[in-house]
Amino acid sequence: MPELPLNRIVRPELNELKAYLPVQGAFKVRLDANEAPPLLSDHARQCLAETAAATSWERYPDASVGDLTEALARHCAVRPEEVLVGVGSDEIIGLLLTVLSNPPKDLPAATLLTTTPTFVMYRMSARVRGMRVVEVPLDRNWDLDANGLLRALDMAQPNLVFLASPNNPTGTKASRDRLETIIEAAGDALVVLDEAYIDYAPEDQLDLYRKHPNVAILRTLSKVGFAALRIGWLIARPELVQELNKARLPYNLSTLAQNLARVVLTELWPEVDAICKHVKAERDVLASALSAIDGVEVTPSAANFLWLKLERPAEEVFSGLAERGVLIRSFHQRGGRLAKHIRVTVGTCEENQAFLAALSEVM
Ligand SMILES: *Cc1c(COP(=O)(O)O)cnc(C)c1O
Repeated sequence: MPELPLNRIVRPELNELKAYLPVQGAFKVRLDANEAPPLLSDHARQCLAETAAATSWERYPDASVGDLTEALARHCAVRPEEVLVGVGSDEIIGLLLTVLSNPPKDLPAATLLTTTPTFVMYRMSARVRGMRVVEVPLDRNWDLDANGLLRALDMAQPNLVFLASPNNPTGTKASRDRLETIIEAAGDALVVLDEAYIDYAPEDQLDLYRKHPNVAILRTLSKVGFAALRIGWLIARPELVQELNKARLPYNLSTLAQNLARVVLTELWPEVDAICKHVKAERDVLASALSAIDGVEVTPSAANFLWLKLERPAEEVFSGLAERGVLIRSFHQRGGRLAKHIRVTVGTCEENQAFLAALSEVM
């Protein structure tokens, strides 16, 4: 049988991409994916189990995601028409790129503007769709380079700007004045502020959405203890939500995910809040302990992870920690200033101690 000539029919942009696959294997301590520590009470688990038990298994899910949308709107103090729910924020990133991809006059493809380093899904999801990607490096303090971004806005005429604040992997919040300068200069491009880590930050940026018609806010349950559910949502003008809904698959969110997420946002939220507070306190304890280690510099974090500058190459530290059963995230393959940085998720007190002990040995 002749082989299917994939190179004729597959998008050429896929040649430059690799499937996203976290490091596999058994590690005693996994602090690589910015998940929350497993601190959910038995009561909360029981609540979720009872909700799951009441599922109408033979029925399709609610295609309008009505109850969950309403719960999220109440949670964020916006109207339900301003909320779009997705299978994690990843799905919404994809929907935005699919829908807002009209190429500008005389150009073959639309452009996404973002920063580097930042969340890798922005670039990957854009390239998969054949979009151009322009990345402006963060400044030496990992804050937005306002001049660089203004120049890029002017030259690239993007349809979309993705900015994570707090940013992944640096944990830094973008400074307000720079953020606002960029929003004002973005004109008719949509600026998406990704607030995946906002529950660990001093305050949110929802006021920028209220003030500027070209801003949308992206949130998720993944980093506050419910990565397993795959729930993300966008806060945006109702007109945009309507367009995005045309591209969304009708049954994207399972009945289980919809019902369990609603319980998380209502009955369980005080507990989620307490876990976030606990993680913030642990983050500050871990940050001061790390600052005391020779050859380690800690970037102040507004998220549930720390971005560490090391005297030794990140690759060696990563392997040394892995040999001791501790998995963290390193970006050394990307070289440059990332070759001496690692990202570590704040875990339970015991996990953080295990990481500290292993790092002291490795350094
Ligand atoms: C983890 C993360 C997300 C979350 O994606 P989900 O699909 O909701 O799990 C989104 N944005 C950033 C910056 C992240 O780090």
